Amino acid sequence: MLLNGELFPHERKTALPGGYMGKILRVDLSSGTMKDENLPEEPVLRKLLGGQALALYMLLHELPLDAKPLGPESKMVLMTGPITGTGLTPGGTKVTAIFLSPLTGHTLGRGAASGFWAVYLKAAGYDGVIVEGVAPRPTYLFINDGKPELRDASRVWGKGTRDTEDLLREEVGIKDARVLCIGPAGENLNVAAMLSNDYNHSASHSGGAIFGSKKLKAIVVSGTRRPPIHNKGKLIEAGLRWRKVLRKNSGVMDSAGHAVHLEAVPNLNYRSTLITDHARGFDKNRVTLRPCFQCQACCPVDVELRDGSHPGVVGHFNAGSEWMDTFFNPGVKGSDALYLAEKINDVGIECSHFSCGVAVAFEAWEKGLLGPDQTDGLRFEWGDVETISRLLDMAAHREGRWGNLFADGPTHVADAIGGDAHQWVVHTKKGTPALHDWRPHFGQMLREIVASGGMKPQGGGSVKPSPDLRYREKWGPLDRDDPTGWPWSQVLSEWHRQFTGLIGGCWFAVSHAKPDALNSVVDSLNATTGWDFSLDEGLDAGLRSVVLQSIFALQRGWSAEEDWKAVGPRFLEPVPDGKYKGFTIAKWLPAMVEEYYSLSGRHPKTGRPYMDTLAKLGLEEFKEWGQLD
Ligand code: SF4
Repeated sequence: MLLNGELFPHERKTALPGGYMGKILRVDLSSGTMKDENLPEEPVLRKLLGGQALALYMLLHELPLDAKPLGPESKMVLMTGPITGTGLTPGGTKVTAIFLSPLTGHTLGRGAASGFWAVYLKAAGYDGVIVEGVAPRPTYLFINDGKPELRDASRVWGKGTRDTEDLLREEVGIKDARVLCIGPAGENLNVAAMLSNDYNHSASHSGGAIFGSKKLKAIVVSGTRRPPIHNKGKLIEAGLRWRKVLRKNSGVMDSAGHAVHLEAVPNLNYRSTLITDHARGFDKNRVTLRPCFQCQACCPVDVELRDGSHPGVVGHFNAGSEWMDTFFNPGVKGSDALYLAEKINDVGIECSHFSCGVAVAFEAWEKGLLGPDQTDGLRFEWGDVETISRLLDMAAHREGRWGNLFADGPTHVADAIGGDAHQWVVHTKKGTPALHDWRPHFGQMLREIVASGGMKPQGGGSVKPSPDLRYREKWGPLDRDDPTGWPWSQVLSEWHRQFTGLIGGCWFAVSHAKPDALNSVVDSLNATTGWDFSLDEGLDAGLRSVVLQSIFALQRGWSAEEDWKAVGPRFLEPVPDGKYKGFTIAKWLPAMVEEYYSLSGRHPKTGRPYMDTLAKLGLEEFKEWGQLD
């Protein structure tokens, strides 16, 4: 795929497509040196686009096979995409951070964030950043209109993400500079520490631990540039079509969030799914919409608490509602769950990692396996807001035995408790699923199980294909009680969600069940870049990204069998109560996982891509990791 064997050409031989700034900043924190790299040539760009695939391709070329996730040789690549920051589409806000996962140690780690930071990185002149080495002291990177600079971060080391944002904005003297940073959890190498940006946003799943291991507190960006656009008129037209099908947040927050759609909420470590008074008092709180850059979906909200034990606290939340279920799971309800959600974002821990660990310990307390003599006097009682708040601080600072266990994750907690505790863990490959109770649903469960374990999974399927895919997809509606068709539905939705991310779009902005949702995204890409992508080519780009993800893990010892074998037993137990009582995907495993791999051009047991898959995707250079038979 490389031209003249060069990933980053000294001089471009192909024209830079629209949408790209053309440069990636390489930062070596050990030496304090920085270098501009030219973006790869057009054939590589067109295949990989940006986001996960382009960042991962760089990592595949540069990360040693024996690298440790938190070792000095580890690297992170942060990449935007061509539609990021044009301002003429909704959802053009994404940055994706790619790294070797500290949660699993051998699969891909990935976090992706919306908000403003990615837009301002491009305004500062860069499509992406490669972070390598270890700084000798706490450091932050400031990129101001094409000028990168490493600065002393000692003033903000130890601070939460909110204070860090405010202090660094003040320090650089630019009121609308944008900050991507870590809290104490990242500094102390909590393995699920996340990157936090623009108050309401996070790139979750361990990027914060990578920053912490490199003594990098933050990247602050500011600038005035805009990505060049190939055909502005056509982009406006495509962007308007995209806006028409956008799902918009009403700003009313009076329910238990996504759990209501799933008809299940995790209670008491996934031992009940019943939704009761979880949202009590939410209607008293004051909700303010906090839209991302030029996106009318307005998912993020600030919530001023006027109910519960901490009135006056303002929570800053993003799309999704995993941060709610995170605290419903250990028995907290009402606005106290929102108070704790604000706190976990401030200390900077990915929410399900904390929730799944704490819930195992609380279950052990309930069952008499733990008492105050083993918990430094703390009482691990369901719904105890102050104890959970204390445990958040301990996990963020790796304070004491329990702080370390919660920082290392739920399987470590269970190992330390012993007895049957390992049966109560919810995890996939030692990572944790996005924190909802997905168990009643084939599509979402399959998505969680086949994900890398170190990232937010992609896909989830749908009962019918998107209307934009009717020219090629004739199936559906699928039956929620019959596994037939769900693996293909997962494959297809994973491809189009991957594609949206690669071009720098936010998948929350794509209402794929509505006509023109996917076509308007493809047309936005074409108008921005000057390319002539079809939807099929976009889906192939999504598959390419997924296959590269497999190759990265294969190189480090993963095989597809791990997907259904390395799953916490509680996650596969039959649904304990409610409308879907007794349902479990477990009886259809491994068949569904194997079908998923077969349908996406990979061997059902090894997960290795077949040679014709590599050839179709132009990835022959990775044939060593292909399946020969
Ligand atoms: S869809 Fe929601 S989360 Fe995504 S960019 Fe728009 S407002 Fe932000």
